[in-house]
Amino acid sequence: MKVVLPDRSELELPDEATGLDAARAIGPKLAEQAVLMRANGSTRDLRLPLEDGDEIQILTTRDARDPDALYVLRHSTAHLLAEAVRRLHPGVKIAIGPPIENGFYYDFDFPVPIGEGELEAIEAEIRREIAEGREWTREESSREEARERFLAASEPYKVELVDTAEGAISLYTQGDFTDLCRGPHLQNAGPIKAVKLTGLAGAYWRGDEKNTQLTRIYGTAFYSQADLEEHLERLEQARARDHRRLGVELDLFHLDDISPGSPFWHPKGTVIWNELEDLRRRENARRGYVEVKTPLIYEQRLWERSGHWEKFREHMFLIPEGDRFYSIKPMNCPGHMWLFASRLRSYRELPLRYAEAAPLHRNELAGALHGLTRVRHVTQDDAHIFCSRDQIEDEIFGCLDYATYLYELFRLGSRFELSTRPENKLGSDEEWDFTEGALRSALDRRGLAYAVNDGDGAFYGPKIDLHMTDALGRSWQMGTIQLDSQTPGRLGCSYVSADNHEETPYVIHRALFGSFERFIGILVEHYGGAFPFWLAPVQVRLIPVGEGHRHAVHDLRDRISEAGFRVAVDERDETLSKRIRDAELEKVPFVVVYGDRESDESLAVREHGGSQSTRSLDELVAEFQARIATI
Ligand SMILES: [Zn+2]
Ligand SMILES: [Zn+2]
Repeated sequence: MKVVLPDRSELELPDEATGLDAARAIGPKLAEQAVLMRANGSTRDLRLPLEDGDEIQILTTRDARDPDALYVLRHSTAHLLAEAVRRLHPGVKIAIGPPIENGFYYDFDFPVPIGEGELEAIEAEIRREIAEGREWTREESSREEARERFLAASEPYKVELVDTAEGAISLYTQGDFTDLCRGPHLQNAGPIKAVKLTGLAGAYWRGDEKNTQLTRIYGTAFYSQADLEEHLERLEQARARDHRRLGVELDLFHLDDISPGSPFWHPKGTVIWNELEDLRRRENARRGYVEVKTPLIYEQRLWERSGHWEKFREHMFLIPEGDRFYSIKPMNCPGHMWLFASRLRSYRELPLRYAEAAPLHRNELAGALHGLTRVRHVTQDDAHIFCSRDQIEDEIFGCLDYATYLYELFRLGSRFELSTRPENKLGSDEEWDFTEGALRSALDRRGLAYAVNDGDGAFYGPKIDLHMTDALGRSWQMGTIQLDSQTPGRLGCSYVSADNHEETPYVIHRALFGSFERFIGILVEHYGGAFPFWLAPVQVRLIPVGEGHRHAVHDLRDRISEAGFRVAVDERDETLSKRIRDAELEKVPFVVVYGDRESDESLAVREHGGSQSTRSLDELVAEFQARIATI
């Protein structure tokens, strides 16, 4: 048989040859360093046989940053963790242990619960296993055999997994530990050069709170110690930038159990909010959107017609009245469509772009709430574009162009994902061919690369999800652009076409920040609290050196304020150096210290994280104006 290598050359191999055999045929060094193969685009265990015509790629320890290579390393380390825990804690029952983003975990049922303090000993035992050497062997087993084996080992969770496993059963063994596992795994533990157990958490068996609560041990592993250290450094940075912590330190917002998931915005946080709101309004106007205001509370029958009553009711806050309910709106769409449908429209009115950033409420479980990134009170930068079939592509193009503008403004990297027809789709395949094609053409025309998630679209239409990458390289799902061919009809939207037919418009649902709450949370972390000048809650802080300078500083404040900038005076009874340090900690973009030597012609200016200079008031104001002119 022949297999195809990444450089398109062919490799002749005996029948039944495995990935490892292929690696050996290429070179002994490669075989020794091999950790995994990709065959026809998917990962596969090196021990599995190849088939004629397979396109293969052998990954080695040199692919230390490849996500698949890291995945197999971490999965293998999870097995070492289970082996170590069983040795150190006899009587423990093991559940499941998959690799995850940035690491792995394993769930255990301990006879006596353990604490964080015990992780060090477990980590040391894993290192001992690696030093001693571990090889993985793979075997296939019948269901009955595997069942007997785990019953004999008193591993009830594994027995249950065998009973519910689909397809063939495979087992992997290293040392004296055998696990039920689909693989793939490393050949041996040699490539695992760095391991760290990172924490403990409770987790229900199979994620169901009616089941036993297990102990989840988290960890991570790398092909080098340097990579682990870099990872820990990034985690530390992320902790330092955590928006929940910075939000309090910078006096932006806080959360309170009196209204879970609904932030209290302090004056400084509200400044940031309003700057984003001004940006939204200005860009919407420039791009042909019109603003509307629709009710917050609606009678049950609206939700019945829109389909939310059936599909989304448990996430809605309901208000009983008589034997019916009103609901606080969890989204703007039905209100906008009801407004559109309030009279018969003409094709001349299309495209009609309704924008509204109303407060929405979604009854998220209290346990799922997280800072500003998962809230109950959510304010989308929402819009609904009513358009005809032949306007779809241009309108999607316009949304993509708008999104790209925003992400560049905030210096966020962006990534686009197109989701196509799901199994429960409404509408014909011809219709989906057309709508998916329109979204693809818009992406291509705007010159955007994108990934495709087959089958992930909503039942009413395809969508494009917008992901952004922050300063720490983390990816966040933000906005979304969704085409809807179903809901407008359900809510009675129609227009008279050029040839005098009554037609149902398409609607594009789109939010580009996603929500104000989540977007501000991400911006706090992205900038580490050091907001660009135009977004900073306080843009300039003035510090009078002594009492005698207060009068001149108040005068200065009034003039900077009149020029349209946010300025504050720090005349607290603190030392000069303390006041300068506090302004530095609060990351105020400009600080002006005013003493005997200063005048409007000669101001001592310190820029956050930058230089000190002497400038006149006019020069300083000109600099501020230049800063905001670029947005
Ligand atoms: Zn495994
Ligand atoms: Zn919508």
